[in-house]
Amino acid sequence: MENAFLTPDHLRLAAEAWSFARDSVAPMAAEEDEEAEVDDLARRFVSRLADAGLLRRCVPAAWGGASELVDVRTLCLVREALAYASGLCDAMFAMQGLGAGPISFFGDAAQRQAWLPKVATGKAIAAFALTEPGAGSDPSAIQTEARRENGGYTINGVKRFISNAGLADFYVIFAKSSEVEGKARLSAFIVPADNPGIRLRERLELVAPHPIGEIGLEGCRVPASALIGAEGQGMRIALSTLDAFRPTVGAAALGLARRALDETLDRVATRRQFGGPLSNQEGVQFMLADMATELDAARLLVYRAAWRRDGGQARTTLESAMAKLYATEAAQRIVDRAVQLHGGDGVVRGFEVERLYREVRALRIYEGASEIQKVVIARELLQGHHQQPARPRE
Ligand SMILES: Cc1cc2nc3c(=O)[nH]c(=O)nc-3n(C[C@H](O)[C@H](O)[C@H](O)COP(=O)(O)OP(=O)(O)OC[C@H]3O[C@@H](n4cnc5c(N)ncnc54)[C@H](O)[C@@H]3O)c2cc1C
Repeated sequence: MENAFLTPDHLRLAAEAWSFARDSVAPMAAEEDEEAEVDDLARRFVSRLADAGLLRRCVPAAWGGASELVDVRTLCLVREALAYASGLCDAMFAMQGLGAGPISFFGDAAQRQAWLPKVATGKAIAAFALTEPGAGSDPSAIQTEARRENGGYTINGVKRFISNAGLADFYVIFAKSSEVEGKARLSAFIVPADNPGIRLRERLELVAPHPIGEIGLEGCRVPASALIGAEGQGMRIALSTLDAFRPTVGAAALGLARRALDETLDRVATRRQFGGPLSNQEGVQFMLADMATELDAARLLVYRAAWRRDGGQARTTLESAMAKLYATEAAQRIVDRAVQLHGGDGVVRGFEVERLYREVRALRIYEGASEIQKVVIARELLQGHHQQPARPRE
């Protein structure tokens, strides 16, 4: 099946990631619903991921990583296993990759040397700051400004919905550095968290544990060496990083959906109604069949997108958007059916499917809402950026 997209090394790594998720992550995940402080648990997950060598998967080999280039199939396999056990652990892994992504893909040698080995060993926690109160789906509306001053830049603005806000050791900030014909030109900057010009304004509490909030930049001075790539390249850096990571959001959805299916298979086999297990009911069997089929379809789209990207296809915007769209929407349907088949217990705290129901929701919104993925897919089709399947000769 999806193994056609994977190598023997991938399969070995997947086995390791699933063991790690079962033996190390699942016991800690039990604390998520207790009073454990999210930041404390998040930090502990980062250090466990580092000890297991998994954070090395988030950066290229020359800077402490495990493979020459960041391998998207590897990120997908790890996210799928982690999300099965804990949404928070998955998010901490993902953010090390996404937050460091602009530096891994576009940074210069000094920037990579300064941050990537620390990301790979869990010594630095990363954050990716694109969204603002007035600029979510439309990043061209970004108001945060970077002004050239005294050989460096001064950044002012507000970033909202930033994962790891207040926890991160550095932020990649996307800011408007100039305007050309009334349109903002963005640039990307590395801002260490100890810069006195950056501060946490507010923490946001989500339906499922996740460290996230709003940060403010007020007279935030950074040297010219903080600029990633060239001035004005920020939008390209943001979109290209998201292209690489969108299939991994789909992979996290696979992990949640697979857990929902497994929980449901156990439940319907043991729960007795109408003189036998629920699994005897044809209507229940049809729901299980739909869940499993959608899960496999999603898995194929996710690993196809990752395989194309790893294979060096220059543009995977279409495949990445399809994978993220379908896998996250399918996971929502699968988790919803899992809750339904658990009956009243499905909405009781402490039942796994109740946790999954809360965890799955944000995936259809972050890194581009489902509707934005459809906008992207349609644009790619209309611009002719899609591969036609080979047709038999007439
Ligand atoms: C858990 C979580 C983690 C996040 N982490 C980060 C992070 O680390 N860094 C970061 O920069 N951002 C992060 N975000 C922000 C996230 O990327 C934005 O929330 C997302 O892009 C949507 O932007 P918005 O919330 O402003 O919604 P809006 O842009 O206001 O859109 C609201 C809704 O309108 C609809 N919509 C919008 N535009 C269109 C359109 N053109 N056509 C049809 N429908 C449309 C969609 O349904 C969309 O969900 C995170 C969000 C969440 C929930």
